[in-house]
Parts: sequence; structure tokens; C-alpha cells
Amino acid sequence: MVDTTRLVPIVGSANVRTDADTLSRTVSAWAIPVIKQRQGNIVTTASAVVYPGSPDEVAAIVAWANETKTPLHPVGGLSNTVESVAPTPNGVAIDLARLNAWTLDEESLLVTVGAGVRWAELEETLNQQAYTLGQVPRSFKLLTVGGAIATNAVGALSGRYGRVGDIVQGMEVVTGAGEFLQLRKTANFDMLPLFIGSEGQFGVITTATLRIRPLPEVQAGMAFTFRTIEDAIDAARLIYRTDSRPTLVRVFDSESAAPFSPQAKALLIATVEGQELAQTGIYQLAHAICQTVGGTEVSSFVVDSWYSRWQETDFLSANAHPNRIAIIVTAEATWANVKGVEQAVRSLMLPNVVQRHANLCHPSPNGATWEFFIEAQTNSIDSPINSINPQAMYIAYQETITHISNAILQAGGSITAHYGIGKTLQSAMKAERGAAQTAIWKSMKAVFDPNNLLNPGVFV
Ligand SMILES: Cc1cc2nc3c(=O)[nH]c(=O)nc-3n(C[C@H](O)[C@H](O)[C@H](O)COP(=O)(O)OP(=O)(O)OC[C@H]3O[C@@H](n4cnc5c(N)ncnc54)[C@H](O)[C@@H]3O)c2cc1C
Repeated sequence: MVDTTRLVPIVGSANVRTDADTLSRTVSAWAIPVIKQRQGNIVTTASAVVYPGSPDEVAAIVAWANETKTPLHPVGGLSNTVESVAPTPNGVAIDLARLNAWTLDEESLLVTVGAGVRWAELEETLNQQAYTLGQVPRSFKLLTVGGAIATNAVGALSGRYGRVGDIVQGMEVVTGAGEFLQLRKTANFDMLPLFIGSEGQFGVITTATLRIRPLPEVQAGMAFTFRTIEDAIDAARLIYRTDSRPTLVRVFDSESAAPFSPQAKALLIATVEGQELAQTGIYQLAHAICQTVGGTEVSSFVVDSWYSRWQETDFLSANAHPNRIAIIVTAEATWANVKGVEQAVRSLMLPNVVQRHANLCHPSPNGATWEFFIEAQTNSIDSPINSINPQAMYIAYQETITHISNAILQAGGSITAHYGIGKTLQSAMKAERGAAQTAIWKSMKAVFDPNNLLNPGVFV
């Protein structure tokens, strides 16, 4: 148990909490700990949660942590699925929810916003003023500004709006050493990328300046089925090779297309949005490419149907079932490797798999991202995953992820697509970046967080 009495003068007694309910919310409800918890296993939480009300209070908390050598776990919406927050029993979670102010600079199309602001709230308020961030991750309603930046989240509309890291123009950070950094996007020696996707390893993000766009004038969608997944992939690749950059292009294998287009062997959906004049050409070009590659147009109702279900989280509900686990792995690949990565994962012999499907998303002129969903049944007699033993289940989960990650890496892909690295993908990440890069990351950690207090044991 950590002595938090010295935190009280910094934030006020109401903002240091140690009750069981608050502590239980220092663990992601979507990550592997929840599997253990649902099976009656004790899950490690932090020993207190502190809620700073200003960047100065964040700095004072970090100074206290350095003096007392207390691990700190920055938390946002806790929607990570890879144990990006892995609380230690002697650690304190630092929840940024009270850093929720924001200001709009309409002339420059920028919004400066506190790290604790809920992403959905910000987007909805911006929409009322005819602006958008353009970032709609599936977890849209769960995540916060700080968490979205710290994981470099990506939304469905990445073709037009990029990913969260692409819209960050500036940031205030309190490093693990307690120093304030005011970071701005610059042409050279830009330090912003070090903090984008760094999963709270180097500092606590307090404020960010994000690029916004006017709400689009028009939106239009199209859907095509293809004879094979390879043809659908070719269509996506050829679309992004041209000047046609639809807002969204997604390719589904037959299993993932089934809820929207039950007969399809492969499905491609695309949407365009923006100013009518500019978007008409993009729509026509993408449409023509799909036809050239042999696609058959189906009702654009399929796009609406997919979008209306986009933010459903039922694919993770298997984790609520004592005998099932759901695994999501994402992989980025260049176009030259996209098909090979899918084949490598598809041909893996994974134990007790009851469902698997994949979709290809976030295309660019150079490559795209696979999302692999795998659900395993764990109650068969010869299962290596013994549901009565959560530890064995945890190991099996890790082994399955390692298996898939190795296949991705061997086929030339990268496991750093989205959803983060956390503890879950840490060893796969080490394999991907190799010893030299791992050593450099460790040196950077030593500079920004010399006492290794921020999220120890995660990522680096
Ligand atoms: C159902 C579901 C669907 C999802 N869909 C997507 C998707 O479409 N795209 C996608 O990219 N991700 C997706 N995710 C993953 C997750 O939502 C994202 O990684 C999200 O950005 C995490 O934000 P959060 O606020 O919940 O952060 P948390 O989970 O609270 O934290 C994530 C990491 O960021 C760090 N962190 C949080 N705040 C700060 C801060 N202020 N300063 C420094 N570090 C901080 C934490 O320490 C941790 O390492 C999904 C998750 C779920 C459960």
C-alpha cells in the first residue's frame, strides 16, 4: 500500500481515491485481465488513483513519484486491449479526466484540448460547430484524447483523415523526470512522434493541439463483391495508386462479409466525402477501378449496414464466456506483402478455433492493415487451454498471439498497426525491432523516465 498523504495537498482529498470500485477501474475492461477476473482470479490494480486538475498538478505528482519511487500509470478511457496499462500493486494511476478544457481556433482549423477530454464528446461538440477531427475508431465512445495519442489510434475514415498521430500539431508533456515539454510539429528535429504511440512510457500528455476539418458537404458510398479476396485486394491497391483517395476502403473476407453481404466471397466497400466538386471524380475513379478488376456492384445499403454496426463490440464478448477467448491482432504490410500476410495467418494451425475472419483496412498508396479476429473454444478435453485454470488460459492466449505475430513478421508484415503494443505484444515487438532498436528505446526511456516509473514493464 502506497502512502498517498502527500498527494492530498497537491490535488485535494476528493481527488485521491483508494476505494475498491475506483481501483477496479485502473485495469482495462477489454484486455486479458478481464478474462482472469471473470474466472474469479484476482486482478492486480493500482493502489490509488489521483486526479490532477492542471498540468502543474501533474508535474507535482510526477515529482512526488520520483521522490518516493512510486510507479505511475497514466489512464484515459482504459479501452486498450493489450495491457497498455498494467498496474502494479505499489503504483498509482494518474487519471487525466479533470484536464478537460479546450479552445477552438477556427481561423487556423486547430483545437487545443486537455488530455482527459472524451474523444466522442469533443467530436460531437465540434460537429455542432460544423467541424470534425475525422477520427472515428471503433472504440469512439470509450477513448480519451491522451489515450488516443498515446496509442496513435486510427479511425475508419483514415483514407481522408489519416490517423490520430497525423492530426497532432502540438503537445504539452510532463516527462517522467518531471520536466515540461512544449512540443510543436516542426520541419526538423520534431520530437512529437516520440510521444505519439508511446503508451505513456516517456511522459504524461497534458494538452494537445489537433487539426480539425470543416464537416464534409457530401458523402457517398459504394459496395462491390469479388470472385476472390485477392481481386478485392487488387481493387483497393489500384484505387490508392491513383489520385483517388476515398475516405474509407475496406475489404472483407467471406466470413467477415457475411453479416452485410451473406453470399459474398469477398466484399469491398468505399466511401468518399468532402466538397461535392472534388469528390465526384474520386467516386467515379474508384467505381471504375472496381469494375475493371471484375467487381459486381451491390446496393450501397451494404455500406450503411456495415457503418451502423461499426462500433459494436460483440466480437469481444467471447471474453465474457468462461470457455472462450477472443483475440484481435492487427498487421500492417506493404502491398507487396499484404496477400502473403493474410495467407500466413490463415494457414496457421491454431488450437480450438471456432471462428476466424479478417478485413483489410486503412489502405494507402503503399500498403494497408489487416485486422484478424480469432475466437477459440477452450472446453475441449484435449485443449491446451484449460478454462478451469486461468493462468493456463493466459499462457495459451499469449502463445496464440505469439504464433500469429511470428507468422506476420515472417511474411514481412509489422504488428504495429493499431490497438497498441502493451504487455501483450511486448515480446513480438522486441522480435520486430531487434536488439539494436530495443536498446535505443531503452536509452530513451532512461532519458525521459530515469527512475522507470511510468508504466513499468509495458512496451519497452
Ligand atoms: C471495442 C474496441 C474497439 C477498438 N477499436 C479501435 C480502433 O478502431 N482503432 C484503434 O486505434 N484502437 C481501437 N481500440 C483500442 C483502444 O480504444 C485505443 O488504443 C484507444 O486509443 C485507447 O485510448 P484510451 O483513452 O482508452 O487509453 P487507455 O486505454 O486508458 O490507455 C492506453 C495507453 O495510453 C496511455 N495514456 C493514456 N492517457 C495518457 C496520457 N494523458 N499521457 C500519456 N499516456 C497516456 C496509457 O498509460 C496506456 O499505455 C479498440 C478497443 C476496443 C475495446
